[in-house]
Amino acid sequence: MTITKSGYVAIIGRPNVGKSTLLNSILGKKVSITSPKPQTTRWQILGIKTLDDAQIIYIDTPGMHREEQKAMNRYMNRIANSVLEDADVILFMVDAAIWRHEDDLVLEKLQHSNKPIILVINKIDELADKAAILPLIAKLKDKLNFTSIVPISALKSENTDRLQSEIIQLLPEGPQLFPEEQITDKPLRFQLAEMIREKLIQATEEELPYATTVEIEQFVPGEKLTEISAIIWVERAGQKIIVIGKGGLKLKKIGMQARREMEKLLGTKVFLRLWVKVKERWTDDDKALRGLGYE
Ligand code: GDP
Ligand code: MG
Repeated sequence: MTITKSGYVAIIGRPNVGKSTLLNSILGKKVSITSPKPQTTRWQILGIKTLDDAQIIYIDTPGMHREEQKAMNRYMNRIANSVLEDADVILFMVDAAIWRHEDDLVLEKLQHSNKPIILVINKIDELADKAAILPLIAKLKDKLNFTSIVPISALKSENTDRLQSEIIQLLPEGPQLFPEEQITDKPLRFQLAEMIREKLIQATEEELPYATTVEIEQFVPGEKLTEISAIIWVERAGQKIIVIGKGGLKLKKIGMQARREMEKLLGTKVFLRLWVKVKERWTDDDKALRGLGYE
């Protein structure tokens, strides 16, 4: 069959509702890192799903939120806004069990959109009684005109097929936009850096992840062994001590877990060297951000 429909689908919602988990579940591969902590996704990431007759290009976005003081937060809100204009279809994702003030902020932004919007109610696996989503639906129906409403579990891949067929119906006619073997727009180095950042976020406490970024300094591919050197940038010397951990144990664990995922991705053994370095106030400095690739 040939592809007759193609387009961009933005996954929009407050932090932690499960946007990146949905993307990974649909693609069957981890292209966007996830964690229980908000602001895990810092970048706009494309996930490309090529079917027999359609190509769906999902856009995973960092969550929107009110705090705009820091350059990093301003950057994240900027991407979230531009995505609303580029998309052909919008998925508004909410948590079946928890409604927060940030959900209202997203809802407000969507009221100005003229794109078709699907309400995606995620984490239904956490509900004992599925009927518990009915009041939520009743409330939201009054506020926005949804094209359809689809309850899912991104984590358990429940009802995601139905979501996908709803999306295909809304896609415009169009040609194949990406080669069929391509599943993301991000280069390999980016994926490797993100793997380290995911393990780092998972291994450290609440406030630290926002103060860190990862840079791949060296990447030497080989048939059996790939050598990778990376720098974990933090804002303060105290954070460096936290990341390294007692006797270097935390850094060792982060490195070991990241290395395993890298080996899966690359299909070779990986020799990974990790350094932790301090760059003061980088999240609050637009120039420093650009230097680290946050364009
Ligand atoms: P994002 O910030 O919207 O991208 O959210 P993530 O995809 O990073 O997910 C946030 C947290 O919610 C992670 O701990 C996920 O494992 C969890 N999560 C995502 N989808 C589901 C789901 O369908 N059911 C349950 N129980 N947890 C989920
Ligand atoms: Mg995310």
